[in-house]
Amino acid sequence: MVDKLSPEQRRKCMQANKSNDTKPELIVRKYLFSQGIHYRLHCSNLPGKPDIVLKKYSTVIFINGCFWHGHEACPYYRLPKTNTLFWKNKIETNRERDERVRQQLISLGWGVMVIWECQLKPSVREATLKEVVYNLSVAYLKKCGVRTTGEIYAPKEDDIAIAAEGYAPYGKEHNE
Ligand SMILES: [Zn+2]
Repeated sequence: MVDKLSPEQRRKCMQANKSNDTKPELIVRKYLFSQGIHYRLHCSNLPGKPDIVLKKYSTVIFINGCFWHGHEACPYYRLPKTNTLFWKNKIETNRERDERVRQQLISLGWGVMVIWECQLKPSVREATLKEVVYNLSVAYLKKCGVRTTGEIYAPKEDDIAIAAEGYAPYGKEHNE
């Protein structure tokens, strides 16, 4: 972290991180670190407290549990057989909040990436993480005013698994 924090702020920040060091998040952070990508954690005042904030890339990342955030059409999002309505409402509320937060962040100029836990399962992990880094590099180019074109940068549409909103990472606006 390059941010200058007072010892007190740092301590609070570290404490906050400790309780949030869930495994999927660690996977993403380790990978970003290995790629030399610097991030901030949870210390932000941004809406929804994004899991990872990448200022240089104007991007925030949420790592969402498939159940709690209601990952549509995902095998890990199955409503319990008992109290079904209770859970349905609860998760619907979470979803609505996620959407509100996403809109707020986008209107503040952030790109928003959502990584679902199921996208970090061992069989798909590498592809997911590569795509995250790819999206970041495109976001950075875009921020720097570099026009990205589909021919040069974009992978096949089929390869896109990450919900990346708030910017057009695949240079679509230039292809049309
Ligand atoms: Zn899922």
